[in-house]
This record gives sequence, C-alpha cells and structure tokens, in this order.
Amino acid sequence: MLNQKNIRNIAIIAHVDHGKTTLVDAMLKQSGIFRENQEVEERIMDSNDLERERGITILAKNTSLHYENVKINIIDTPGHADFGGEVERSLKMANGVLLLVDAFEGCMPQTRFVLKKALDLQLAPVIVINKVDRPMARPLEVVDEVLELLLDLGASDEQLDSPVVYASAKDGWASLDPEEEGADLKPLFDTILSAIPHPEGDMDGDLQLLVSNIDYDGYTGRIAVGRIDRGQIHSGDQAVICRKNGTTTSIKLSNLYVFQDLQRIAVEEAGVGDIVAVSGIKDINIGETICCPSNIEPLPFVEIDEPVLSMTF
Ligand code: GDP
Repeated sequence: MLNQKNIRNIAIIAHVDHGKTTLVDAMLKQSGIFRENQEVEERIMDSNDLERERGITILAKNTSLHYENVKINIIDTPGHADFGGEVERSLKMANGVLLLVDAFEGCMPQTRFVLKKALDLQLAPVIVINKVDRPMARPLEVVDEVLELLLDLGASDEQLDSPVVYASAKDGWASLDPEEEGADLKPLFDTILSAIPHPEGDMDGDLQLLVSNIDYDGYTGRIAVGRIDRGQIHSGDQAVICRKNGTTTSIKLSNLYVFQDLQRIAVEEAGVGDIVAVSGIKDINIGETICCPSNIEPLPFVEIDEPVLSMTF
C-alpha cells in the first residue's frame, strides 16, 4: 500500500487559456505515463463535451502521475466563478496548489476567487509563471503581481514565501531561473515534491473518507470520489455512510479505484492520503462520510451552494 509520504495531492488554479491543459499534458508525458503507442488524441483535462462546447473547464477531474516514487494526484479546479461549491470541494482534496499564471497576461480577476479559497484552506502554493517563451513575456513583473495579489488576499508569511517556477508548458520545460530555459519539467516536479506537504492522517486508524465529488459512468453508475482522511479502504469491506441529517446507511464497498494517468483503475485497497473512487453505492452524495462501522465519525459536511451560472465579479 502506498505510504502517504509518497503522495502529493495538488489542485491547479489557472485562468482560462493560461495553459493548464498543456501543462498537465506535458507533465503526464514526461512522467513516462504514455506508452509508446498510446495515442493522445484528446487533450486530457478538456475531454468533456460540455466543456468543449463552452470552451472552459467546468468539471473537476482527477488524474495522477508518478515521479521518483511519488504519486502526484492532480485535481482540476474550475477556473472561473463557482459551480455548486465545486471549487471548495476540489480544493479540500488537495494539500497544495499550482497557481498557474500567463507570463504575459499576468493575474486575471477570475483566478482571485479560487486562490482566495485555497489560501483560506491553508494550502501551500507553488507559483508557476507559464508561457515564458512568449516574445512579450514579462515574468518578473508577473511574479510581483502574484505577490501583490497574495498580500491582498491575506496570505500567510509562509504562503508569501511560495516557490516560483518559470515554465513553457508548450515546450515542456521549467526553470527556477527566469533568465534561463530549462531542459524539461524536472524543476517543477522537484518543487512539487519539496514544497507541497504530503497528506497527513493515521494509516492504522478507522476509515474516514469525505465524498468530495460524484462522477457518473454509463457502465458503473454513480461514483463517489474523495481523499482517504484516515485509515485504509479495502474492496469488500463493510462500511457506513454518514448522512447530513445524522442517519447512517450500511454498505458494502465493492468497486474501488484509484486514479492513474487519465484512467480510473480498479484496486483491492488504498491507504490514507490517496484519492479514491468507489462505485456501486447508488444513493451516496457529496459531503457524506464513508466510515468504518465500528467507529462512526462523520467529517464536517461540505455545504453545496446552488450552482451559480453567472460570474460573481
Ligand atoms: P487552459 O485553458 O488553461 O487549459 O489552456 P490551454 O492549455 O488550452 O492553453 C491555451 C493556449 O495557450 C493554447 O493555444 C496553448 O497552445 C497555449 N499555451 C499553453 N502553454 C503555453 C506556453 O508555455 N507557451 C506558449 N507560447 N503558449 C502556450
């Protein structure tokens, strides 16, 4: 079972078009996930039809990659406004954020909203100044803008001290020096490993998992997604769902998955800190906790706002 020290859960915060999809594509490719003949026909984080139609990412997705024995779970966050509390729910699975900003455009107002929520949740940011290859790029000014924004949003001293990585997602490299081109994304991967804390939690405790998202799959139906906050989960275990109204429902955990590159893969077990998906539980809802039957202890319920379909600023 994966030790929590070998896990990093990161959310990406970016304004639309600042290069989130391109960066995740490049990270996946460089982490060696794509086997030689596996074609990447679709860009990863934008693969949903609805998103494509609207040209924006509105549904949180999970993907993961491996770098130096560490599993990096990447949680997509909507880049604009809030859809049913989705930003908050996605951020709650993360232990740090990549704040991705275009080196020419700089900070955009829509990033502010999500960043504020991340800072309030005490997440550690890594600042990624992307598109430094653009002829008009002004990376150092943009870093100043980001720091101003962090100050403005009440970031802690630690958050203000966030590492900065300069990147060209398009060309697949990152560098810690704004004046120097990198060769690959290693500086970014290394910064993620060193600056973003691994998830905490007791591996030997009783299972606690907050359902942060619900996915649907035509084949398996409703799929609950969340991070294991405590303990372990084993396929076939008995468990209990703690409902918002205080009632509980007994269930059997039958189909358990973790995220690997772009897919959900079936596993027999998973441990604290990892992000998992459980299918086969028909009436499970966001905000409910999956617990061990002998220690029923719900996690704080995440309120879901009504979807806000217009911009709030
Ligand atoms: P997203 O909306 O944040 O997912 O942005 P995309 O990854 O779709 O990128 C938006 C546009 O910016 C695309 O045309 C990309 O090719 C381009 N782009 C992304 N990264 C870079 C980069 O590092 N340099 C340059 N010059 N363009 C980039």
